[in-house]
Amino acid sequence: MKQLKFSLYFIILLVMFVACAAPEEVDLAALVTVDDIPTVEAPATATPAPLPTRIPTNTPFPTPTVAVTLEATVAPLPSPTPTIAVTDTPTPRPFTIVYATAFSTQGEPINVHQFGWGETHLMLIGGIHGGYEWNTVLLMYEMIDWYTANPDAVPENMRLSIIPVANPDGLKLITGSAGRFSTDDVPYNTDSGRFNANEVDLNRNWDCDWEPVGFWRRQEVSAGAFAESEIETQALRFFIEQQDPEAVIFYHSAASAIYPGQCQGIRADWTDQLLFAYEVGSGYLPPAKGGTTFSYPITGSAPDYLALKNIAAMDVELTDHINTEFDRNLSGVSEVIRALVGDS
Ligand SMILES: [Zn+2]
Repeated sequence: MKQLKFSLYFIILLVMFVACAAPEEVDLAALVTVDDIPTVEAPATATPAPLPTRIPTNTPFPTPTVAVTLEATVAPLPSPTPTIAVTDTPTPRPFTIVYATAFSTQGEPINVHQFGWGETHLMLIGGIHGGYEWNTVLLMYEMIDWYTANPDAVPENMRLSIIPVANPDGLKLITGSAGRFSTDDVPYNTDSGRFNANEVDLNRNWDCDWEPVGFWRRQEVSAGAFAESEIETQALRFFIEQQDPEAVIFYHSAASAIYPGQCQGIRADWTDQLLFAYEVGSGYLPPAKGGTTFSYPITGSAPDYLALKNIAAMDVELTDHINTEFDRNLSGVSEVIRALVGDS
């Protein structure tokens, strides 16, 4: 036992001696050989890491996809063979139609209200002086409402066309509406509404004795750059000539009289009959019988131009700027219709 302990001590001392001894040159290559380093081979299946892609700052708006639903078509059930009643009566046209014949400088419609489809054609035209003569527009709407309620008043061989507003821009300037309006919307001063959007007096713009400067009371007014320069005049002229009516009545205010269309002494054939019938029905007088005469020359007016086309035309001047004098004017129109039907 003592011998074993001694041996152990001896071994420990030997080891300590070796450890404390001066280090020898260590051959590192001999310690670790290249063969000892395990080589790691990349797995055959490894894929290269993808390059980072730039994240777009703006996501494009997705294209909307339109869902198309196909509706199943239902096959109609077989119906029994219809019996077709063969008649000679065509489908009747509506007695009253409304259509825009043209558009104003500012794009407002110039509407025509037509009653009946007969050959003999009478036209009533209000508001050529726009908002300044707004009562002529109201009169036309009263006529439209009355003939709508009384279609029998238009004989079968007659056609009545009413244009309530020949100058819709001038009316809108005053009333805020290019069509029907309330008298509550009318201001005290309506002068500026006389003209169209180009500040042209449309009843000085027609091609009879046209002058670039017209007169209204003592005031000079623009009659347009040339005769029929305004779109409203062109539209009305085209409409009237294309329809070729037997008579045209324009409404104004407020001279309380009636005036025949005539140009340089020329009157259309039926002018005198038209004037007389309206006088009988309404009681307004022409200048020749004591009706008001204008103290200023009127150039380029619509009824005067129509005389050159042998279309009987006249102006009616209401008594003031407010009342429509509906009854007497309805009576005047009725008398004209009676005269036209009697003559046709
Ligand atoms: Zn007028």
